[in-house]
Amino acid sequence: METVERFTLLWLQSGGCGGCSMSLLNAESPDLYNALDLAGIELLWHPSLSEAGSEEFIELIRSIVQGRRRLDALCIEGSLMRGPQGTGRFHMLAGTGRPMIDWVRDLAARARYTLAVGSCACFGGITAAGGNPGEACGLQYDGWAEGAVLPADWRSPGGLPVINIAGCPVHPAWVLDTLALLAAGALGEDVLDELSRPRSYTDHLVHHGGPRNEFYEYKASAEKPADQGCMMEHMGCLGTQARADCNIRPWNGGGSCLKGGYACINCTAPRFEEPGHPFTETPKVAGIPVGLPSDMPKAWFVALSTLAKAATPDRLRENATSEYIKIHPSTKRRSGP
Ligand code: SF4
Repeated sequence: METVERFTLLWLQSGGCGGCSMSLLNAESPDLYNALDLAGIELLWHPSLSEAGSEEFIELIRSIVQGRRRLDALCIEGSLMRGPQGTGRFHMLAGTGRPMIDWVRDLAARARYTLAVGSCACFGGITAAGGNPGEACGLQYDGWAEGAVLPADWRSPGGLPVINIAGCPVHPAWVLDTLALLAAGALGEDVLDELSRPRSYTDHLVHHGGPRNEFYEYKASAEKPADQGCMMEHMGCLGTQARADCNIRPWNGGGSCLKGGYACINCTAPRFEEPGHPFTETPKVAGIPVGLPSDMPKAWFVALSTLAKAATPDRLRENATSEYIKIHPSTKRRSGP
């Protein structure tokens, strides 16, 4: 009987918190192992999930770099540490005497596809915040700038740029769907957006399906944490600009930041970690939020929000600044049967 070669996957972690791997373990319907199996993917090694020790692991990566073993997908989680002074010696790969960034460059040259998993690996993320003494960056982006550990024009042997599955952390389905498409040979550059993120989840805004959208429609705004109103005007929420399907494809069976009462901080975008203001405050000029909904001219926003506020039903106005429902929706009784 003919045996079908399985699509091989190697997962490495660099300068991150490991949260993206933790999130991956929350995959459900199906769970992580069944999802990989159903997609025909063989997990060669993962630092948290594999039994193999360091000697086996080092032999594995050497065999890939030397071309003795095929690698289809290289997943990198966490930012790449270039410090000090570009040498990468702040993160040596234990037991090899070589900086991680050198291994990543060599492995990426062999892997059919290279994926950055999480905003650290895509753009630098949380690890690159502040003074960034570790010179942390993403694989192919350093914040918004193209070109980092791999140059801007780099393409994998399979012909794609680094696939940036951005998010902090990533939704497990964003990763597993992307891997399944690659394994099926069904992911081309046309299904990546302008930051090389899979459009399967970035063709949506976090605002889509949001639990507070009725408040948003009337600009009935929350003024403090735990208020029920829209969090865009005062509480720093970027859901109308952030690209992800968090409220359409919820987390852990039903959750999202917005459903938990937290403002969206646009964690799928470069430099989200440095907004230049507190995450839960909306910066404004002359009382108008600086970051307006995507595609919306400022004049239209001002006109529409003025009109919407004038038309706000009492129910939404009252409930927006309350922790609980003060005025319930009413049902108009109809006369007759
Ligand atoms: S992207 Fe976020 S969750 Fe993932 S490794 Fe970086 S800090 Fe952790």
